[in-house]
Amino acid sequence: MPLTHRYKIQADHENFAATIEEIKKYLWFLAETGCQGFDCSQKSLETLKLWGSNEVVLPESLEEIRIDLGDCRRCELSQNRSNIVFGSGNPQARLVFVGEGPGYEEDQKGEPFVGAAGQLLTKIIQSISLTRETVYICNIVKCRPPGNRNPLPEEIKACLPFLKRQIATIKPDFICALGTFAAQALLNTQEPISKLKGRFYDYMGIKVLPTYHPAYLLRNPDKKRDVWEDMKMLRKEYGI
Ligand code: URA
Repeated sequence: MPLTHRYKIQADHENFAATIEEIKKYLWFLAETGCQGFDCSQKSLETLKLWGSNEVVLPESLEEIRIDLGDCRRCELSQNRSNIVFGSGNPQARLVFVGEGPGYEEDQKGEPFVGAAGQLLTKIIQSISLTRETVYICNIVKCRPPGNRNPLPEEIKACLPFLKRQIATIKPDFICALGTFAAQALLNTQEPISKLKGRFYDYMGIKVLPTYHPAYLLRNPDKKRDVWEDMKMLRKEYGI
């Protein structure tokens, strides 16, 4: 076999191996972002045609993400929930508040932060001259953990890709992470909230400010001062 021909076969083999490696990586990525199967609808095939071309693929909307979430059964939390709590507020918010997970009231209404902790969050938002309508409010997990227990790592893992897509769509300048679970999941750390609070971190170019969860403040009112300090920092950075 001529040397050039042998070389070409080897090069083809290397390209093929690299392509397989890329496909493997992409399948892992899909699995990690919550994909459970392939959508071969006309719309997906049309989108596929645009890949690699110079045409701009429009980003997805919050409605599309909600449709994709569907009647989610990706984790055990789906078994006891009454409603999925997707998120509410301004889809173009500059500031997103991320809590832990819905409680009883939120589960009943399908709205985030509408119970006692929610009323305190509303006051916190107003303390920096904003309203619930100007910001966006959502949670790390979208279904209520039974008895308001902490969300489990596998529940967070199943739900987080949807929150990340919501954030990518909203493109806020700031995220206020309320409590340990929100801060740890977004910043991919195990540090406790007491260590994380009080300064900004980076998440995909977005400034993340961890602070205490309003439910924690209801049990520990002496910590309200810390949150007020954090809110003053946020207000200044936001430019209010
Ligand atoms: N606590 C949360 O973390 N989220 C809610 O939506 C309500 C209470």
